[in-house]
Amino acid sequence: MSKNQKYQVCIIGGGPAGSTCAFMAKKLGISFIVIERKEFPKDKVCGDGITFGCLEILRAEGFDLTEIEKDGNLNYTKNIRFHNSKGENISINNNLFCTLERERLDSYLWNQIENKNKLERTTILDISRKQNVYEITITRDSGQQILEADFIIGADGYSSFIRRRFFPKLVYPKRISCRYYATSEILTTDTNEFYFIDGVKPGYFWIFPLSGKKFNTGVYLPNGTQEELFAIHRRFIEAKMGFLPDENDFKSWVIPNNIELDKLAINNVLLTGDAAGLCDPLFGHGIDNAIMSGIAAINSINYFISSNHKNFPIDEVYRYHLSVYFKDILYHSNEIMNKIEAGHLDILEYIKSVISK
Ligand SMILES: Cc1cc2nc3c(=O)[nH]c(=O)nc-3n(C[C@H](O)[C@H](O)[C@H](O)COP(=O)(O)OP(=O)(O)OC[C@H]3O[C@@H](n4cnc5c(N)ncnc54)[C@H](O)[C@@H]3O)c2cc1C
Repeated sequence: MSKNQKYQVCIIGGGPAGSTCAFMAKKLGISFIVIERKEFPKDKVCGDGITFGCLEILRAEGFDLTEIEKDGNLNYTKNIRFHNSKGENISINNNLFCTLERERLDSYLWNQIENKNKLERTTILDISRKQNVYEITITRDSGQQILEADFIIGADGYSSFIRRRFFPKLVYPKRISCRYYATSEILTTDTNEFYFIDGVKPGYFWIFPLSGKKFNTGVYLPNGTQEELFAIHRRFIEAKMGFLPDENDFKSWVIPNNIELDKLAINNVLLTGDAAGLCDPLFGHGIDNAIMSGIAAINSINYFISSNHKNFPIDEVYRYHLSVYFKDILYHSNEIMNKIEAGHLDILEYIKSVISK
C-alpha cells in the first residue's frame, strides 16, 4: 500500500475563505491541500455584493484583480441608496461597493491555487487523529485515499462538516435569505438599493445591478420559513418590476451570525468564514469576513510553525486574531440590528451617523 500523502495543513472547502487561505499558504511556504466537494465553476447563492474593503484585502495580499476587472463584470456602481418604511431614502455617492457574480469570483479565487494543491469533486468520509496527526479519508473518481495533516482549516460553509465533527455544541444564530436574478429595462443600473421596510425589518430587500441589464435581487429576513421568504420576495419583485417571477427561480440559503469568537479553534482545527458563522448581523455580508478569517487562520498556523513559541497554543493565537479583526465590528452590527428591530433606530439615522464620522 502506498504511503499516505502528508501536509502541514488540510483546508476543507474552496469558497472565498478556503481559496484565500490556500493562496496565503503558498506565499508563506506552508505545505497544504484544499479539498472541495463540488466542481468549479459553480454557483453560490449570494447577493454578489463586494465591499471595497474586501477588494483592498485581496490586493494587499497580492491577488492580481486585473483578470476579473478587465472582463467588465466587476461592476463599480456610482451610488448606494438606503430606503426606510416611511418612503424616505438617503444616497451615498461613492463606489465603495461593487458587484461580481459569485460564480466568477469563486472561480477566480480557486484558479489561483495550483492543481497539485487542490482536489475537486472529493468527498470526506472520515477524519480521525492519531498521535497529533489528522488522517483524512477521502473518496473521488480515482478511489479512496488517506491524507495526513497537522492542522485542519474548516472553510466548508454554513453546514460545515468540520464544525459538526469537531465542535459538537457549536450552533450559531442564523437568518435566512434568498436570491433571484432579474433582467430589467426599468431598474437603475448605477445604484445598489437597500430597502429596510416594514415586513422585513431589521432585514431588508436588495437590488444590486450586475453587468448589462442583469440584477441580483434578494431578501435577508430575521426569521420565517422558505415559503414565506419566497412569497415576500416575489411580491417585492412584482411591485418594483411589474411581473411575478417563477418560484423555482428563487434560491435560498442561511446567513450565520456568530458573535462569540472564542470557540472557533480546538486541537489544531480552525473554523473560518461561514463555517465560523462570521457574517455581519446587520447587512449579512460575509465574503470579506471569510477572506479575512482565512488569512487569520493561516497566519496563526504560520506563527506557530515558524516561531519558537511551540508551547503557545495555536488555538489561542487564532482566537486573538479573530478578536482583533472582528469582535468590535460584529458586536456593533448586532447592537444596531437589535435597535432597528426594537424600533429604537431608523436605518437612515444610522447611515447619517456613519457618514458624519
Ligand atoms: C442569499 C445570500 C446573499 C448573500 N449576499 C452576500 C453579499 O452580497 N455579500 C457578501 O459579502 N456576502 C453575502 N452573503 C454571505 C456570503 O455568501 C458568505 O458569507 C460567503 O460565501 C462565505 O464564504 P465561505 O468561503 O466561508 O463559505 P462558502 O462560500 O459557503 O464556501 C464553502 C465551500 O466549501 C465547500 N464544502 C462544503 N462542505 C464541504 C465538504 N464536506 N467537503 C469539501 N468541501 C465542502 C462548498 O462546496 C463551498 O465551495 C450572502 C449569503 C446568502 C445566503
